[in-house]
Amino acid sequence: MSEQFKIGDRAKARCDLMGVSPYSEADDMLVRRFLTPAHDAALDTLTFWMTQAGMTARRDTAGNLVGRYEGLTPDAPALLIGSHIDSVRNGGRYDGALGVTLGIDCVQALSDAGRRLPFAIEVIAFGDEEGSRFPASMACSRAVAGTVDPAVMEMTDADGVSLAEAFAAFGLDPTRLEEAARRPGEVLAFLEAHIEQGPVLEAEGLALGVVTAIAAQKRLMVRFTGLAGHAGTTPMGLRKDPGPAAAEAILAVERICGPLAIWRARTGWSARWAGSPPCPAPST
Ligand SMILES: [Zn+2]
Repeated sequence: MSEQFKIGDRAKARCDLMGVSPYSEADDMLVRRFLTPAHDAALDTLTFWMTQAGMTARRDTAGNLVGRYEGLTPDAPALLIGSHIDSVRNGGRYDGALGVTLGIDCVQALSDAGRRLPFAIEVIAFGDEEGSRFPASMACSRAVAGTVDPAVMEMTDADGVSLAEAFAAFGLDPTRLEEAARRPGEVLAFLEAHIEQGPVLEAEGLALGVVTAIAAQKRLMVRFTGLAGHAGTTPMGLRKDPGPAAAEAILAVERICGPLAIWRARTGWSARWAGSPPCPAPST
């Protein structure tokens, strides 16, 4: 077995280890929300692995864990490698975590070989990417990029706990979120290894792909307004049913976006019937 495969196996095994309690809030699936004891436990173990791999590890002011492996010269700009360590409910053991453990293992391989590169490597475990607890997805990487809005601190989770309160409970200062920003001169590039969350590679029999574009979501809400009528006596030609109109709109989106390779349109819709029509509401 080649060294590369050993690295991959170890990174995967570490994700498996972190797929259960105390790294998960649930016993039967992985749930690791931002700023929870499960998140804290994951950061502690990642810190241990980073230290083992010859890195110094610190938690930044946004709740990210950052491990650093120096280059040939101290304080050289760094290649950042990382992904998110939080997980939505049943997000799977490798979503995000694999991008962190692979980074650690790459550094471990360099460290084992006694090699230093002309640049430093930093491995980052982002705290919140998924909006797993607060409706503020990617707040932590935005903080690193210097584009976070401090107003996110006012957002609350399902229990009414604000992000500021959760920060304080985690030992973080909610007023220092923006201090996690990295200066451009400190960073060479960012590399993220991530599981594919679609079926394309599998359909093409490929193990690995390099992204050339990334999904940027744009969510629109479209309201189709109709008029309720008697199911039996209203002639088809005089009906104003919003269901078929919505169906035609969905098909139009597919028709327009389908041929463009880099565009993927997904239409999800739920129907909400206003008033009390005499005919039953359709299923969605
Ligand atoms: Zn992910």
